[in-house]
Amino acid sequence: MSHTPSRQDFDHYMAPNYSPQQVIPVRGEGSRLWDQEGREYIDFAGGIAVNSLGHCHPVLVDALKTQGEKLWHLSNVFTNEPALKLAKALVERTFADKVFLCSSGGEANEAALKLARRWAVDNHGEHKDKIISFYQSFHGRTFFTVSVGGQPKYSQGFGPVPGGILHATYNDLESVRKLVGDDTCAIMVEPMQGEGGIVPGTQDFLQGLRDLCDEHQALLIFDEVQTGVGRSGELYAYKNYGITPDILTSAKSLGGGFPVGAMLATDAVAKSLVIGTHGSTYGGNALASAVALAAVEFIDTPEVLEGVKKRHDLFCEHLETINRKHGVFKEIRGMGLLMGAQMADAFEGCAKDILPLAIEEGLMALIAGPNVLRMAPSLVIPEADIVEGMARLERAIERLVATE
Ligand SMILES: *Cc1c(COP(=O)(O)O)cnc(C)c1O
Repeated sequence: MSHTPSRQDFDHYMAPNYSPQQVIPVRGEGSRLWDQEGREYIDFAGGIAVNSLGHCHPVLVDALKTQGEKLWHLSNVFTNEPALKLAKALVERTFADKVFLCSSGGEANEAALKLARRWAVDNHGEHKDKIISFYQSFHGRTFFTVSVGGQPKYSQGFGPVPGGILHATYNDLESVRKLVGDDTCAIMVEPMQGEGGIVPGTQDFLQGLRDLCDEHQALLIFDEVQTGVGRSGELYAYKNYGITPDILTSAKSLGGGFPVGAMLATDAVAKSLVIGTHGSTYGGNALASAVALAAVEFIDTPEVLEGVKKRHDLFCEHLETINRKHGVFKEIRGMGLLMGAQMADAFEGCAKDILPLAIEEGLMALIAGPNVLRMAPSLVIPEADIVEGMARLERAIERLVATE
């Protein structure tokens, strides 16, 4: 008889860097999931802002099956049709002229940072090497990206960190002005901080960064790994602000659950990525590209993007109703379907305690730091699932309040 995997197997066989919930989901459809016991859950977590069309959306399943029977992988020794179609689709829909494909957000950011450094050497000289980013920011788990990220807990304890990296305070332009200069190579920023607590960048702040970059001939890099591909109610969040970066990174929602990442850049910048400067064996994988193309084409339509904005309002209304009754949140914020509810002072640090209670009530949610309950559901989550999911969330919150 074959062995049925259990949660204990995780502790037995997996590296101990995660601590997953006790249940093991085995099947998903839209915004619902079922575990090994057949218990059903509503999914407000979306695989951490990845499952942009929920689970097993027919359009993505069809793209995967069709490509899966044609061609999976060639490496960059050859190009392939799905990768070319995806790159064209991204260029035609954004500010960018060129695309580098890879398999994750961290890899897309690694490419962006290396490109920025190379561009500075090519155009200005070795001295222009300073990268400015922000406290609480998150850019991935490679050593360069954790170092640029503004959460020391992810970069400390691994030996000497890469140099030339400076951190400023998010939404505080003065703190950037103190660091910026002619040796600034790039400013890397999330238009809305995701892991750092769902904190939207203000218009003035992001515009100020654009102006500082122009003044000092530095590159503006938008990390849209979490905010991209419809999540904000526009294809990319920069479109909400009308502020254009020089480099943009995308992953998570891009593949709707299939691992894929992309770095987008203008011609003037991308031309520094000459033959041999950078690469990835899986970059432009045909299967990944076919699924991502299907996701982008499906999401970048007025129906889906308008639907995200409508669902945002619905999420806000429900969270505010829950809060009027239970007073657990200090602030409800976010963009599109990337929402955060910051815990009230009396529940400081308690966001994580909601998650297992929610699981028991049949709801999957996320946190963003100790104080923020985060939701990143499917961009096409049915209204009925929002209503039912919120009822379950309210029951979890009632139990949290009762135990405090
Ligand atoms: C998730 C995330 C990353 C890292 O993406 P991975 O696919 O985990 O490498 C980078 N930047 C932001 C803003 C993210 O939310």
